[in-house]
Amino acid sequence: MKLTVIGSGDAFGSGGRLQTCFHVTTADKSFLIDCGATSLIGMNGLELDPNAVGTIFISHLHGDHFAGLVWWLLHAQHVSHRTTPLTIVGPHGIADRYRTAAEALFPGATAKEPRYALEWREFAERTPVTINGITATPYPVRHPSGAPSYGLRIECDGKTIGFSGDTEWVEALVEVASGADLYITECYGYEDPARFHMNWRVIEENLERITAHRIMLTHMSCPMLRHADSIETPHVLISTDGLVLDL
Ligand SMILES: [Zn+2]
Ligand SMILES: [Zn+2]
Repeated sequence: MKLTVIGSGDAFGSGGRLQTCFHVTTADKSFLIDCGATSLIGMNGLELDPNAVGTIFISHLHGDHFAGLVWWLLHAQHVSHRTTPLTIVGPHGIADRYRTAAEALFPGATAKEPRYALEWREFAERTPVTINGITATPYPVRHPSGAPSYGLRIECDGKTIGFSGDTEWVEALVEVASGADLYITECYGYEDPARFHMNWRVIEENLERITAHRIMLTHMSCPMLRHADSIETPHVLISTDGLVLDL
């Protein structure tokens, strides 16, 4: 299994980074974890084929995590002429939030039925859902987004990826990361508290309880990026756009 970081940035383009998006490929499928507004730019820059992505998991309904669906679905319909099915899974109300965003940005964008099979699914708290051979379990986190926000635990081909989504520290993250091959955690700040977000000091305090084999920091603000090089914990990685990990 190969994970490519499409976007490792926060909502504000700090460090020139693209917004949150991770691309995962196995022997027979590809899926996305989050789809920030810049996801199609990142996919094109890395020459990855959007039509090969069969499933998109969305952690929460903030623009830097789901707004890329607007361009993704327009591209599928009008540019790449997608024919392969696509399933999008996210918090309650995701299809309506997508339609509202798409119609605000491109009036009429949702008027035509897609020419491929497009399915919207909603997460239920702590309930595993298996789609296209990938099992995702959403854990509630603390990050207001007008809908439930989740940390995700994703299992596929015997590998496990945990993802914090955006949140301040909550105990559920211990479960999200437990024994995972890779735990991706937002790390917005270095030591200054930011409401509803994490910082490195909090992650550091909890490192012994985060039992993932590798931990990757993402969604970093400028102050955090300035300190990133000083973090020398052996199994902690700093994400960058385009980074590829073999799991
Ligand atoms: Zn957010
Ligand atoms: Zn965010």
